[in-house]
Amino acid sequence: MVSQSLKQAFVGIVGAENVMDAEADKHSYSYDAAVLDPVLPALVVRPSEMDQVGRIVKLCNDNGLPLTVRGAGSNLSGGTIPSKGGIVLLSNALNKILEVNEEDMYAVVQTGAITAKFAAAVAAKGLFYPPDPGSQAVSTLGGNVAENAGGLRGLKYGVTKDYVMGVNFFDVEGNYCKSGSKTVKCVTGLNIPQLMVGSEGTLAVMSEFILKLVPPPQAAKSMMAIFPDIMTASRTVSAIIAAKVVPCTLEFMDNFTIGAVEGFAKVGLPTDAGSLLLIEVDGHPAQVAEEAEKVEAICKANGCTRIQVAKDAVERNKVWEARRAALSSLARLRPTTVLEDATVPRSKIPAMMQALDKIAKEYKLTIGTFGHAGDGNLHPTILCDRRDKEEFHRVEKGVDAIFEAALGLDGTLSGEHGIGLAKSRWMEKETNRASVLFSKRIKAAVDPKNVLNPGKILGE
Ligand SMILES: Cc1cc2nc3c(=O)[nH]c(=O)nc-3n(C[C@H](O)[C@H](O)[C@H](O)COP(=O)(O)OP(=O)(O)OC[C@H]3O[C@@H](n4cnc5c(N)ncnc54)[C@H](O)[C@@H]3O)c2cc1C
Repeated sequence: MVSQSLKQAFVGIVGAENVMDAEADKHSYSYDAAVLDPVLPALVVRPSEMDQVGRIVKLCNDNGLPLTVRGAGSNLSGGTIPSKGGIVLLSNALNKILEVNEEDMYAVVQTGAITAKFAAAVAAKGLFYPPDPGSQAVSTLGGNVAENAGGLRGLKYGVTKDYVMGVNFFDVEGNYCKSGSKTVKCVTGLNIPQLMVGSEGTLAVMSEFILKLVPPPQAAKSMMAIFPDIMTASRTVSAIIAAKVVPCTLEFMDNFTIGAVEGFAKVGLPTDAGSLLLIEVDGHPAQVAEEAEKVEAICKANGCTRIQVAKDAVERNKVWEARRAALSSLARLRPTTVLEDATVPRSKIPAMMQALDKIAKEYKLTIGTFGHAGDGNLHPTILCDRRDKEEFHRVEKGVDAIFEAALGLDGTLSGEHGIGLAKSRWMEKETNRASVLFSKRIKAAVDPKNVLNPGKILGE
């Protein structure tokens, strides 16, 4: 609950039309893309000017009111669930691209800009912003930076953190802070921009970013390699990298996912294949031709039964349409989709796949697995019905077993989806107690009243 006078104070900052507390509004901003219980905020506010953001943050801090920033709410770890109630701040009106600098190859952009729109705007100027989360059509750059989002091009081009040169933000007292630089090199002081990356709204409210841009590749070649089983495909991933070829994309689908995608998208995938690798090499045309030949030879030498090289843009799009349809195709099969992103060192993908098979059998779960094989970033996707308590209990046990397996293989809880509420209780297991306490001390120093997205990443 927020008092009438406090509500009026927010109205005074952003106008009555941008302060919402109707039940329907509260429900609309009570959840995100994670399978977790919703929590209603007390109030939803939508600033459209940066100075309003500072005043909102200050008002929240002065009144000890929890504040959760929401971009598109597409995160998969409970990051935008206002778990302690309070204010949800919508960033979607703060979406201006302020500068695209072709000579120095950077852009300055506000937090609420949509990822794909930003990428298209810089592409129109002949530049390339590589991070491409599957949610890019809706996700915001603020959400991408706060979650350190990855995507299909991570193997060669890296993830969001590799493109963040600067972050401007409001601290919890509402002060406007600048960090980073438009220069290629900048070692002034602590590396605050990278501290903000992955901080999931717990340290500050980010306002603008300076993002690195690169030249676009001149050419690309995509191929689909078909394997009789998961192990041959997994071993091929390691063989490609060991041959010193770094594709821009090296994706994986198991037999269950292939069937789901074909049943939905009807792109002509071989439903009898044990697994698929979708591979793209890019760069200078001569390099692309050479690398594509090498990849083809490696696939064949490692048990690939058939390889289809896309002849033109239409065929190339078909390959990526198939991959991008993986999650939605699986999600159609049962009412609830629990998508995980346990990640292991590449060489341990075969062991992780074996572990997933064992977990599916032990807990009687339907798991379809696809993901960024080149990064070791797998997305085991459990299909279930959350309303069936007995089944969902087995799902929770299965999810724990997945994390356990990934950590046991020197992996990580999250390759790209963040920790949020969903995985906070696992933080100590991946790092250690001292490390979690260190992070808690940083949080306590910059947000002493625990106003900014409380309960996320580090738990209570
Ligand atoms: C279908 C689908 C596909 C996906 N594919 C991928 C993928 O390929 N790779 C990947 O990495 N993720 C993926 N995701 C997850 C999700 O899209 C990403 O985490 C994305 O970065 C979230 O962006 P958003 O704008 O929706 O952020 P939100 O969900 O709104 O917010 C995410 C976090 O960022 C914080 N935040 C947002 N803006 C700010 C700000 N200005 N200041 C401080 N904190 C802020 C929020 O408080 C929250 O903690 C996918 C999700 C879906 C539903």
